[in-house]
This record gives sequence, C-alpha cells and structure tokens, in this order.
Amino acid sequence: MQEKTIPYKIYLEEEEMPKAWYNLRADMINKPAPLLNPATKQPMTAEDLAPVFCDELIAQELDETTPFIPIPDEIREFYKMYRPSPLVRAYCLEKKLQTPAKIYYKFEGNNTSGSHKLNSAIAQAYYAKKQGLKGVTTETGAGQWGTALSMACSYFDLDCKVYMVKVSYEQKPFRREVMRTYGASVVPSPSETTEIGKKILADHPGTTGSLGCAISEAVEVATKNPGYRYVLGSVLNQVMLHQSVIGLETKTALDKYGIKPDIIIGCAGGGSNLGGLIAPFMGEKIKGNADYRIIAVEPASCPSFTRGTYAYDFCDTGMICPLAKMYTLGSGFIPSPNHAGGLRFHGMSSTLSQLYDDKLMEAVSVEQTEVFEAAEQFARVEGILPAPESSHAIKVAIDEAMKCKETGEEKTIVFGLTGTGYFDMFAYERFNDGKMTDYIPTDEEIAASIATLPQI
Ligand SMILES: *Cc1c(COP(=O)(O)O)cnc(C)c1O
Repeated sequence: MQEKTIPYKIYLEEEEMPKAWYNLRADMINKPAPLLNPATKQPMTAEDLAPVFCDELIAQELDETTPFIPIPDEIREFYKMYRPSPLVRAYCLEKKLQTPAKIYYKFEGNNTSGSHKLNSAIAQAYYAKKQGLKGVTTETGAGQWGTALSMACSYFDLDCKVYMVKVSYEQKPFRREVMRTYGASVVPSPSETTEIGKKILADHPGTTGSLGCAISEAVEVATKNPGYRYVLGSVLNQVMLHQSVIGLETKTALDKYGIKPDIIIGCAGGGSNLGGLIAPFMGEKIKGNADYRIIAVEPASCPSFTRGTYAYDFCDTGMICPLAKMYTLGSGFIPSPNHAGGLRFHGMSSTLSQLYDDKLMEAVSVEQTEVFEAAEQFARVEGILPAPESSHAIKVAIDEAMKCKETGEEKTIVFGLTGTGYFDMFAYERFNDGKMTDYIPTDEEIAASIATLPQI
C-alpha cells in the first residue's frame, strides 16, 4: 500500500534543492539550431550578443556541452525564500474526477510574482549585477515576468525598465503597481519613447501591442543606454536552463517515493516552464533510460507548435533581435485581442522546437473557454486559483485522467502548475458572466504571417 504513504504535498528539505542547473542541450543528439545574426545570417557569437545581453548569460546561452552549471550561492539563498516548491498529489481532483489516474502538480505560484518566472529573473539580475551594470530592460506581457524581474532587481539594487504590452498595462493595473512597488519603471508598449515604438504606432495606429513589439522597444533602450542590458523571461536557452530547478526538484521528490510518471504536461508560451519541468526526464528519455509521454499545451489562438512552421524567424516585431530557428507563426502574428491569458508569443524555444521536431514530445492546442472550465474545476477542489496559462496544462491533465477512467489505467500524470490567477480576474469575470469567446485563427491568417518569414 505504497499509495497511502504519499503525502498530499511533498516538500523537499532546503539541502535537497538543486546545486546545479541542468543543461539539457548537452545531452541532446540533435542540438537546437544556433541563433543567427540578422545582418550576416551567420551564427551569433558571444561578441555579437555582448551589446544586448550580460556576458555570463551569453556564455550560458551558447553552452551546449556542459551538462551541469553550478547555481551560485547568492541565487540559492534567494531561491530559499520560496523554494523548494511543493509537488502536490491532487487527491481531491482525482476523487472529483473518479479517475484511477494519479495526478501530481508542481506548484510554482508560491511567491509574490505568482509564477515560475522568478527562477530565471533572480539569476539574470545576479549576473547583471556581477558584471557591474546599472540596470536591465525587458518586456512583459501579462505582467508576471516584469513583476518577477522587478523583485529580482530590487534585491540586487539594479534599475529595471519594463515595456508592458499596452493591452495588459490597461487591463492589469495591479501587476503594474506591484512592479512599481519594487522600484521598476513601467511603460506601455508600443510607446513614443523608442524609434521602433514610434514606427509601430505610425504603421498600426490604435494597436494594443504585442510581446514582439515590446521586445523590440526594450532591446533598443538597452543598446542605446550605457550600463544597460536586455533580459528576456522565456524562449532563450539560458531561461530554460534556470527553469530546470522545477524539473530537478520534481524528479527528486518523485524519486524519493519511487514514483515514475507516465505523462508529463506543461503549458507552452515561449517554452521555459515546460522546458524546465521536463529537462531531467527528457534527458533520461534521450539516453534511453526511461520513457515518458511529454505534452506541450498551447492556446488554439496562438498555436505555434501545432500550426506553425519550423523555420528561422525573428523573435521580435521590429526584426532587430537574432534569428532563432523555431516553430513560429511569423513575427508579425498578433493573437486576437479576445485571448485572455499569456502564452501569446508567436514562436517557441528553439530547444523545445528541436525536441518536438524529433518527435520526442507532443503538442496539443486548447480553446480558452474549455481552459477556464478546467481552471474552475481545479480551483473548486484543489483550492488554488490557477493562472490562465497554467490552466492549459490542467485542461489536458484532466483530459488524460478521464481517458484513464475509461480504460481503467492507473497512469501517473505530472503537470506544471506555473502560477496563480489573482491578477486575471477580468478574464475570470468574462468566463463567469458567460461572455468568454474562443477565437481560432484561420489558415489564411496564419499563411499570411508565415509568408513574411525571413528567407534563410
Ligand atoms: C509566463 C508564464 C507562462 C508561460 O511561459 P513559458 O516560458 O512558456 O513557461 C506560463 N504560466 C505562467 C503563470 C506564466 O507567468
């Protein structure tokens, strides 16, 4: 009766927290394609990247051979404020669903920023400080990344300039105020403060903005101001590296109880939480030491994996960032404004894109109304009010658990519960009022933005 011995929450001791991040690329047989310099179309060198990113982060970005990269003590000390994070056995959800499946979730929402983003924010702020920089610039969509970065910057006494997608700036004033409370300056994007912002506003008057626009603005400001660098909260290899703490802790906790997952599920926007959660499991899978079904869940309104093209593309609308080979909808793709929560990026981590192309993982897309139905169901039994992003993973975890109910299989399902939804109450309100709608882009819309991919 091993089952009875598994607690509702598995908490690790502080000493069991990982001492090194795991760099999955070191164990990948087909490495992700390198970033290309947009001017020369040659692989980006550390020198090319130096005006934009912090030196140590560039080294991590380009490192595809070192499997384990030690976590500096200063970062581990900060992690202790909110880590190790619990791995929860969703007994109440299982009971409600009457499923023989065993469901676990790794909860990353237990910090003020409300998501996993702090795992990378604190690392990036640390390396910026260590390099003697004055500050960093970034973009934020729904606001979690900006919030996490502002917390990290205030801890290391760095200036923090955040370009926030305009629609979120207006709809999520509370996130904005959390950032300002931590000392960040927050500008709605596109803005008149940058050349690219002015151009985007001239070309698309009244635009509600996109992550791609905000990235262009933040990069421009970083490169024009001495002592500043740009930091990004997802997509990049370095971010996925930092997020490996999620997967490493999950694996340690499961191993302690001899649990082997059958299915691992995560939501995918730029791919950082999913990449971090699956890293050690995917490493075993690549080496042939274990087999897991790994599922990325994305919104049907921004379906990079399931309907995108695997090609080199710009990461930003202004086309000034390096080119990344990834599953993309085209850098001009802007998700419908009725799309509520996060996961709005047009592309996807190049590491996850390669793994997906190699058929080492699957992807599904789900519509937002069914995502909120899953969120409601989860909140009512497990207590946590989930972020809309995280709820994409909940939806598919429930679907898989219901399949088990039909077949009688006792599969073990692990999913990433990336954050809480307290700042997403406009979206919940729309759902509760029955006013939430789904929007799926047409093939023509996707084809039109794919047609603008750079020719490499
Ligand atoms: C940012 C965010 C995501 C998506 O980002 P990834 O890089 O794809 O992980 C998911 N959930 C929450 C709560 C977020 O804040």
